Amino acid sequence: MPTYAYTCTACGHSFDIHQSFADDALTVCPECSGRLRKIFSTVGVTFKGSGFYRTDSRSGSSSSVSTPAAKPAAKPASTSTSTGAA
Ligand SMILES: [Zn+2]
Repeated sequence: MPTYAYTCTACGHSFDIHQSFADDALTVCPECSGRLRKIFSTVGVTFKGSGFYRTDSRSGSSSSVSTPAAKPAAKPASTSTSTGAA
């Protein structure tokens, strides 16, 4: 069951509510009986986006510390011979 977010245009009261697709959208604020504005799950999309970037940057920074292979990539003029020459 999807979660819908509403924000009151009168008093600014915002809340989430679980509704099925068949249910009618809320239009009246439970706090002040003002007019509600429906917000389309922007919270879920933002959460996924930020989580993806956090995981990506986190693994990248940790691997560069322990793995020397990540260092040559940062150098502008790196020769492939340095990999086998030890
Ligand atoms: Zn209100």
